Amino acid sequence: ITVGVVRERAPGERRVAMVPDVLSRLAPLEAQILVETGAGAGAWFADADYTAAGAEVVPGEEVWARADVVLCVRPPEPADGTGDPPGPRAGQLLAGLLEPLRRPALMRDWAERGVTAVSLDLLPRTLSRAQSMDALTSQANIAGYKAVILAADAYDRYFPMLTTAAGTSKPAAVLILGAGVAGLQAIATARRLGAVVTGYDVRPAAKGEVESLGAKFLELPGVGSGAGTGGYARELTPGEQQAQQEALDAHIARSDIVITTAQVPGRRPPLLVTGAALERMRPGSVVVDMAASELGGNVEHSRPDKTTVLDGGVTLIGAGNLPSAMATASSTAYARNVTALLGLLVRDGAVVIDREDEIQAGVVVTHDGAVVGEKVAALLD
Ligand code: NAD
Repeated sequence: ITVGVVRERAPGERRVAMVPDVLSRLAPLEAQILVETGAGAGAWFADADYTAAGAEVVPGEEVWARADVVLCVRPPEPADGTGDPPGPRAGQLLAGLLEPLRRPALMRDWAERGVTAVSLDLLPRTLSRAQSMDALTSQANIAGYKAVILAADAYDRYFPMLTTAAGTSKPAAVLILGAGVAGLQAIATARRLGAVVTGYDVRPAAKGEVESLGAKFLELPGVGSGAGTGGYARELTPGEQQAQQEALDAHIARSDIVITTAQVPGRRPPLLVTGAALERMRPGSVVVDMAASELGGNVEHSRPDKTTVLDGGVTLIGAGNLPSAMATASSTAYARNVTALLGLLVRDGAVVIDREDEIQAGVVVTHDGAVVGEKVAALLD
């Protein structure tokens, strides 16, 4: 079997789907590995490192032409009219974070071309067998860490309490809204830097996790359990949202740093920090919105990849692609995730699609000319 690794084309994307150090883990597949020229450059991996690890470095067209399996991070799509990259062809398996729920029409195109598209965004994450493949978790961990580093960099005081000859500094008060994978890593990172940390989430299960990291869990009156399905949150009712808002605003005003990470699958991220709450924060405070998107995020006025100092002296950072900003770590973790995925998909030197397998039933989006992923197919009806 031939496994190809392509260079990412998305603007600003520095990650790569496979790194030289992880190539040895593919040995049991006895695969021939093709890596596109320059694929690892953004993450500081040179072509020569891949060659030394046993891969063949070739131009992109050759990867697409020769590989049975192509590994990517983001959906490979040509910039308008360029035809570069050529994209997947009939009989080829494409594996990556393909954003199938945001891009159902692209999935249909691939299905019609006869491509088998496998997307790690749709991994059933609560299965313990799936954990080694969980790219959403590996990337969210990195994003949560990096968000705290960005906040600390923009904050003009110390995070820890420091006692020096020049006096004692107060520790920073950090509030993390949303305690999923990214939020918990943000809590742990802020704690390591010595901040006093409070965490909040609508899922009651988060309380124990927040407290086990040495942070305080914020209890808000008037909000019922926000647990939804698959370990994710549900959308709150308008009444609950209002109760949440009022109680949260006071806590936000007292915080030096607020980092928001709240997501609800398939919905616009909930608005947790309003313009009014931002106005109540002290000058010099820092807010990082990890849910910032073109559709809006958790913080009013935030925009992805944009940092603004508001009139009240609050620095508002709309996070962009944080995993890409730590491309070496994120690519290495991702490479391990796709290696585990290949272990599931490849048997005796060939791809074996088995939709009876619970993990495959989740991740296989297109196969045999059809969109087989149920959630994606539902969007196309
Ligand atoms: P996510 O990115 O979908 O959301 C981030 C967090 O925001 C979630 O914890 C969610 O509850 C919270 N949130 C949503 N609406 C909110 C609101 N209005 N106010 C406050 N918080 C709000 O979540 P994720 O990080 O992808 O994780 C989702 C779940 O999956 C978590 O329970 C996580 O522990 C679980 N998970 C389990 C495994 C496993 O079992 N191996 C692996 C990965 C994730």
